[in-house]
Amino acid sequence: MGAGSRAACVFCGSGNAEVAVAFPSTFTAYQFLQAGDKACPRCAEMLTDPKYRRNSWIIRDGKFEVITNVADFLLNLPDPPFFLYLTKTRRKHGWIRAVQNPVLNKHRFFLVVDEDKILFDDRVYAELYAFCSDLYARGIPKAVMVGGMPEPSVMRRYRLTWGEAFKLRELQYNPLWRVVVEFKRRN
Ligand SMILES: [Zn+2]
Repeated sequence: MGAGSRAACVFCGSGNAEVAVAFPSTFTAYQFLQAGDKACPRCAEMLTDPKYRRNSWIIRDGKFEVITNVADFLLNLPDPPFFLYLTKTRRKHGWIRAVQNPVLNKHRFFLVVDEDKILFDDRVYAELYAFCSDLYARGIPKAVMVGGMPEPSVMRRYRLTWGEAFKLRELQYNPLWRVVVEFKRRN
């Protein structure tokens, strides 16, 4: 490419890539990159500043904000457009998928959690949140909530109804349910 040509950012694909990218030795997320060797100024900063890996965050109107209570934040999302990234590992480069998937409709969008993309639906989320809050209030451990069909002894111990037990079985492989349980705080 000649001098002055505009390249696409290897991370987000925007057309203002001007910073040569030097990948740290810990970088393993090459599968999320687009062709090229330059980044836009924002993504170049995101690659080098650990705050984008170590926090769950939102970037709205160009403003970065750490999300401390993720489960509650998802109940009351601000108006789009924004970029949203959630992390449990605090070390992955899933922020790349977050900048590739801006949230344009807050009722239904792809939620990026670490390096996974999960379909978010706000009505489904509100139901799962309510179910999780109820179980939490009754002292039911997270391991039971994500463990599928509970053993009869566990059902007796925590006074789970058959309806709740079957619901837990149904939710075992539901990625949005796992998000609720893993990020929900005991209130
Ligand atoms: Zn970029």
